[in-house]
Formats: sequence, structure tokens, C-alpha cells
Amino acid sequence: MASTTLTTSFSLLRRYRSFRGHAVAKSLPNLSFARLPGQSPALLRSCRFICRNADEEAAAIAAAKVAGSGAPTIFDKIIAKEIPSTIVYEDEKVLAFRDVNPQAPVHVLVIPKIKDGLTQLGKAEPRHAEILGHLLYAAKVVAEKEGIVDGFRVVINSGPQACQSVYHLHLHVLGGRQLKWPPG
Ligand code: AMP
Repeated sequence: MASTTLTTSFSLLRRYRSFRGHAVAKSLPNLSFARLPGQSPALLRSCRFICRNADEEAAAIAAAKVAGSGAPTIFDKIIAKEIPSTIVYEDEKVLAFRDVNPQAPVHVLVIPKIKDGLTQLGKAEPRHAEILGHLLYAAKVVAEKEGIVDGFRVVINSGPQACQSVYHLHLHVLGGRQLKWPPG
């Protein structure tokens, strides 16, 4: 069958780069999708969905490659107040602020103010046990402050296969709508 190859250009990728807001996606190679004759809007939407996921995965792989460098991340700039964020909770050890690309009516990120090697949960060592507990408790405090303590989810993406894109440990606190399971 003579199917036409629709080479996704950066125009599609760019559209979905904003989905996660990752500059690293700029380095993505073009991707190709098969386009069926009479491509419908529904199909186009599904192509975009695939593209979005490919974008996330490629961004996560690119982010993982620089994770070990110890380079500051966007979250260091948020902690230093060099770039703006909407802070919802703060104490001496953690900062909680709204995710720039919310996946639920409430989507807050909780991060340690001092990274101490905690680029991701998979790098946790015994010395991190206290801050890990503190972060989890802070997530509950955030849920209370946001009025979702009766039903919320805490997510930690660790590593490229989990699509982690910022290598400064962070907890996603999600709620305010019915959340589905499995999460995908
Ligand atoms: P993850 O993919 O688990 O590493 O999550 C990183 C999260 O950081 C994503 O949900 C992004 O939307 C979010 N994010 C990236 N940059 C910012 C920013 N400047 N302010 C708030 N959230 C951000």
C-alpha cells in the first residue's frame, strides 16, 4: 500500500515541546509516522499523541545524559528565585510550587532545597532518608493546603524510562479531579 510518510517536523515537536517545557527537546531528530489515505482529524490527533509521547521520551533521555554532570537545573533557579514560580508551601528544607504544565487542577512540585546528590529517587542513599520523609510529609501538607487531602496522588518519576525530565528530585502532588489507574 502506498502510504505516504508524514515526516513530523519540528513544527509538531515544537507544539508539544511546550507540553513539558523542555528546551532539551530542541535536539530531537525528526520522527516519521505513516499517514493513511484520507487522514482524519482523529488520526491526526492520534499522531500528535504519539509525537507528544516521543517528545517526552526523547526529552527524558536527553535530560538523563546531562544529569550526572551536576549542572544546575531549572529548579535550582526557582530555589534561588532567579526565575518566577508560584510557591504554595515552603519551610527550611523544602519548596513547593505549581507545575508550569499542570496535569490536574492541582499539580504542585515538592523539592528539597538542597539537592545533596538527589538528582533522582534512584540515587537515594541512607543519608537521604530524613529528607525523603520530610518531602513526603510536605506533600501531605500541600494536599491539605490545596483542599485535596481526601484524594490525591504523589508521583516520583525516576530515570528516563519513567520520563523524568528535571534531575533534581521532585514529588508531583496531583489532585482536584478523578485520577485514573493505571497511570500509563
Ligand atoms: P518530571 O518529568 O517528573 O521530571 O517533572 C518535571 C516537571 O517540572 C514537569 O511536570 C514540568 O512541567 C515541570 N517544570 C519544568 N519547568 C518548570 C518551571 N519553570 N516551573 C514549574 N514547573 C516546571
